[in-house]
Amino acid sequence: MDTELIRNTGDAHLVNGFEQPLLRPAGLDRIHAERGSRVVPARADSVGEAALLPGGVEPEVRQRAASLPSYLKGDLGQGYRVERAYGQVFIARQSGLPQPKRGEVVVKVLAASFCNSDAKVILGDKTPNVLDAGVNKHVIPGHEAVGVVVSAGEGVEGFAAGDLTVIMPHLYPEDHEHTCQAPAGDRGPRCIGHKCSRHLGWDVDGLYSDYACVSASLLVPVPESAYRRTAEALGAIGSDLRAEALFSLTEPAACALTMFPMLCEAGRERRRAEPAGKRALVLGAGPMGCLCALALLDQGYEVSINDVLLRRMDLAVRWSFEGRVRPWTPSSGTNNFDMVVTTAPTATAFKTACEAVRDGGVIYLFAGLVARDREAMDPARVVHLESVHRRAHSVELDVEGKHVLLVGHSGYFEPVFDEAVDLIARHAVTIDRLVTHTVDGWMGGKATSRVPGGQLYDPDDGRPAILHVLHNSEKVEFLESRIKLMVLTDGYLSWAGEQA
Ligand SMILES: [Zn+2]
Ligand SMILES: [Zn+2]
Repeated sequence: MDTELIRNTGDAHLVNGFEQPLLRPAGLDRIHAERGSRVVPARADSVGEAALLPGGVEPEVRQRAASLPSYLKGDLGQGYRVERAYGQVFIARQSGLPQPKRGEVVVKVLAASFCNSDAKVILGDKTPNVLDAGVNKHVIPGHEAVGVVVSAGEGVEGFAAGDLTVIMPHLYPEDHEHTCQAPAGDRGPRCIGHKCSRHLGWDVDGLYSDYACVSASLLVPVPESAYRRTAEALGAIGSDLRAEALFSLTEPAACALTMFPMLCEAGRERRRAEPAGKRALVLGAGPMGCLCALALLDQGYEVSINDVLLRRMDLAVRWSFEGRVRPWTPSSGTNNFDMVVTTAPTATAFKTACEAVRDGGVIYLFAGLVARDREAMDPARVVHLESVHRRAHSVELDVEGKHVLLVGHSGYFEPVFDEAVDLIARHAVTIDRLVTHTVDGWMGGKATSRVPGGQLYDPDDGRPAILHVLHNSEKVEFLESRIKLMVLTDGYLSWAGEQA
């Protein structure tokens, strides 16, 4: 086994891996992931009770620890995590709790979702925010997760072991207030374009891990009321998912909700009101498309949805939304939408948006362009689309004989996270039905479909499903039946097991 692959902490052990052919740099051929083998940790850290909370074990803390759910007990710190380094992506064993530095918190991850941008970074189709995050950077991918607080470093206040929390993935430097290059300095989408934030999962360690160590400033607690409301809704439909899991969709939901403040600002800048009329078309029925559709429905829009994969469109319309959104295809003949939201990163989707929007309407760019389309499109247009999306700009454009407002962004404004938690709780049943596939644990070999009559995704070569998905995220036969894929960690499963 090649120890160069192992990060310096001495607690990670490669157990299963994949090469990253697209990013593979010359001269690194000799470094190979050792496949299918399990390596015994060199140093088996035993983690005592004191690791549960910072500042030693006070008597009342000891009492509280005794009443914690079982996912906070047992072999704390024993688990797995996904890692990417030296042109490879692999799974490593985690042994011993990460040691939080000042201001950091260790979260036991209960559920984490797959987002296409995680795969895009790995496949070289998306550039990380900071320059040193290239191929050799050793990083844990993943940025959508929910978990419970297990320990904290010095200086962290307001969190206790067992708190259910979601994690915001945009990490700002401590002096951001003074160094921010973005016009409004508002810890939001414009900071991404100005590279003043780093992103969990590609610039810094992310959340595909049984234990994640993150800055406490990134935690957004899930209030008891939101948790209870979600649990009741899931109980009423007999869902196989526990309420905790759904909150791993908070980050993409926050991204979808950020569309509304962006629209308001664009309208103010251009001295025009929001588009009169509430007929919206969403292009792309993947997770972002469906969450945008949900956010639009919630704002009183009449929503149609399209996907070039007709089976996926049908899945979204009939299973996830139970008919509350309408299917749409370019041949439907119904155009003149007040707003077209494109979540599909292709030149074709942009062209469709131009045809479907009405004169004076809005095209909202949720997705940038995939690399191949960036090259294929005329350079002037590409500059527009990429910069509108990446820099969160708005521009007015004449297309197809129509005057339209182009608005776009990626990421979220931080205060929107609380709203996103609330959106999940209020629409728990729809959110539940966006989760089409689950994988049991980081080492889980197959993705089980939750859709009635749905297909199992079982690559059957003994390698973890999450690695396959990170590599083959665009495999059509799987994409057709998939909206959101979620990894339910061992922590989640042991809790569920105990309840049964
Ligand atoms: Zn995401
Ligand atoms: Zn900034």
